[in-house]
Amino acid sequence: MRTRVLVTGGAGFIGSHLCERLVDDGHEVICLDNLFTGRRGNIANLLGNPHFEFERHDVAEPFHAEVDQIYHLACPASPVHYQRNPVRTVRTCVQGTLNALELARETGARLFIASTSEVYGDPEVHPQQEDYWGHVNPIGVRACYDEGKRCAEALAVSFARQYAVEVRLGRIFNTYGPRMHENDGRVVSNFAVQALREEPLTIYGDGSQTRSFCYVDDLVEAVVRLMAADTDARPVNLGNPQETTVEEIAQQIKRLTGSPSELAFRPLPEDDPTRRRPDISRAGTLLGWEPKVDLEDGLRRTIADFSARTTVTGGQRPE
Ligand code: NAD
Ligand code: UDP
Repeated sequence: MRTRVLVTGGAGFIGSHLCERLVDDGHEVICLDNLFTGRRGNIANLLGNPHFEFERHDVAEPFHAEVDQIYHLACPASPVHYQRNPVRTVRTCVQGTLNALELARETGARLFIASTSEVYGDPEVHPQQEDYWGHVNPIGVRACYDEGKRCAEALAVSFARQYAVEVRLGRIFNTYGPRMHENDGRVVSNFAVQALREEPLTIYGDGSQTRSFCYVDDLVEAVVRLMAADTDARPVNLGNPQETTVEEIAQQIKRLTGSPSELAFRPLPEDDPTRRRPDISRAGTLLGWEPKVDLEDGLRRTIADFSARTTVTGGQRPE
């Protein structure tokens, strides 16, 4: 018997890789997405597959499906997108997660929730372990996403405690790879597109802030393992601890593309975290997992994908 799996946000960057993986593993997959930042193109190779179904739907509205597992990813992830309509972002995080939890409660399905390293805010503890409570500005421009996700976590652990819903909580750190939206304003997509177009690479601030980038295949592997793990609702950091500054990543992308682009320094956005690196000991012990793709290899694959669809024109930021 095939497992029936619902993936919310399945037409997005991470979700589309996850849908592909689940179909390959022999599951029946329903992808539910309102195409806010996702695209049919991301799931084009699955659309004719008899084991895959796409439904256009907003997770803030209730939904129903007879499924065994739910991966709940629906939410814009890039600051440019989630700040464009902050009220909608909060609604997606909170009401969308509530709807996913209600469905899990009704059906008895196990539910993976895509949380984020943003729950740690601008961290005062480095690297970040799961027991760190974070340092988030509750009224800043990132609050709609950060606090929305923190509320989603609170809802998830409450449903686990009160109704014994089987929750798996993954705190995802910066993830990159093929199918990132060329206009989503994230650092890897911006720099790759700018380098390929031979435009200046826009570094916000002085470029000394750090992030730790995980290749999407590694991330999907961790997510699938966490869903299968014999554990509880406690959060698990999922990411690659290889830490790099924003300026280093600009230089690396410039080198890998052989681009003559210059570095252009721009103002640092409000509340931009200074540093971020996951402690992944818990994922290692629980899932026997560690990332395999190093940054250079992952960037090569990502740049090749952008290069193949570089009919891209216009700016790096969405209108
Ligand atoms: P993405 O924007 O590419 O994908 C999000 C998907 O959710 C899109 O297909 C979008 O159309 C869909 N969506 C948004 N709002 C919706 C709604 N109200 N109803 C139905 N569908 C909706 O982003 P991604 O990078 O693939 O992120 C997927 C998940 O992982 C998100 O929950 C995000 O918060 C989380 N995450 C991602 C990263 C990362 O670095 N990519 C890091 C931490 C957490
Ligand atoms: N960033 C940058 N230039 C860009 C886009 C982003 O310098 O063109 C910086 C941004 O200010 C942040 C880091 O890169 O410090 C990562 O940004 P991203 O939006 O990718 O992810 P997040 O801030 O959510 O980790």
